Amino acid sequence: MINRILRVSGKSTTGSSEDAAPKAAVRLEDVTHEYGSGGSRLRSGTGRTVTALRGISLEVENGEIVGLRGPSGSGKSTILHAVSGLLVPTRGRVELKGTDLAGLSGRNRTRARRRHVGIVFQRFHLLPSLSARANVALPLVQAGVPKPDRRERATALLEQVGLGDRITHLPGELSGGERQRVAIARALVSDPDVLIADEPTGELDTATGADVLELLTDVARDRAVLVASHDDETLAVADRVISLRDGQVIDDGR
Ligand code: ADP
Repeated sequence: MINRILRVSGKSTTGSSEDAAPKAAVRLEDVTHEYGSGGSRLRSGTGRTVTALRGISLEVENGEIVGLRGPSGSGKSTILHAVSGLLVPTRGRVELKGTDLAGLSGRNRTRARRRHVGIVFQRFHLLPSLSARANVALPLVQAGVPKPDRRERATALLEQVGLGDRITHLPGELSGGERQRVAIARALVSDPDVLIADEPTGELDTATGADVLELLTDVARDRAVLVASHDDETLAVADRVISLRDGQVIDDGR
């Protein structure tokens, strides 16, 4: 049984002054994205534009797990990149906790991502030369948190994801499931309001994948979680599954 993942005291899901009126944690409104359209050189030259998203609108509430289902190329990753602020869509609004990411400078968008969004990747993306604890603590280095506090928070999270006895192990000394738990702990270390996961069980066997999904479900109790997958077992943990095709919502799961 996985321990309950506790949120950092003082940062409740509904209590901060900036979100006194409850808002969707994530909100996309009529989002269209064309890769390759940013530079006029591409349009006028041989470059082609690819329309990855065509008028996507969706919302994810606090405590809700929303799945994104769709064949390869349907736009799942592009949506996750837009939510994390890694990509600014060609048109439309992407709001995190009520703030339109497109209205922020690049630096403030990065800040918003670090503050509000945790990201879990299919292939874990751990740094191989760093211990599990140092990997988990890494976002706190970027946030300027003092080392003793980083170590304490990373250790506590590793204990909460069931890896209290693996703290000093390198990623290469861990199983796939353990690596993904480290990655989830890292995604949670800044206590984000939103967790996004792109095929989080894609590299794992069924039993290990089920454990990781249980962990994600536990995490979601007081966060918004957006999971992209084409695996039905992964999507089964979602409260609602949005189906995509060719960059459009064909079923919003409501
Ligand atoms: P999914 O995650 O569902 O597989 P993606 O969001 O990765 O879908 O891709 C949606 C569409 O955008 C596809 O046609 C894909 O080829 C295209 N695409 C994705 N990333 C890029 C990119 N960096 N440059 C150009 N086209 C891209």
